[in-house]
Amino acid sequence: MNDCLFCKMISGEIPCDIVYENKSVLAFRDIDPKAPTHILVIPKKHIQSINALKASEQNLAGELLLTAQKIAQIEDIAVSGFRTIFNTNTHGGQTVFHIHMHIMGGRQMNWPPG
Ligand code: AMP
Ligand code: ZN
Repeated sequence: MNDCLFCKMISGEIPCDIVYENKSVLAFRDIDPKAPTHILVIPKKHIQSINALKASEQNLAGELLLTAQKIAQIEDIAVSGFRTIFNTNTHGGQTVFHIHMHIMGGRQMNWPPG
């Protein structure tokens, strides 16, 4: 999608701090980290949010979770623990409308979240 920040990162038009990449997903460090480790995982295909996910994209959706598992190992937060979040639309606090999974770790997370 032409006007999407994360699509511009996928194309290389806007730089980002890449942690992991394969043919279908890209993971990079959040520019404004809310935890010592704060990484975003996105599909390379533009999907606006969970609301827009199609049944045909279930493998891709699952790959985001398996990527979280891989990144937790790379970042050494698998054992200590981490949080994964998908924000959706206004009440969810979504600000970038290309589906992304936050992975946060390296400190104790609070519950319930704000
Ligand atoms: P959300 O609020 O769930 O839509 O999350 C969007 C996230 O993208 C926020 O945590 C931002 O800090 C992050 N973000 C925005 N611009 C950039 C950027 N240029 N590079 C890395 N992360 C970004
Ligand atoms: Zn996009």
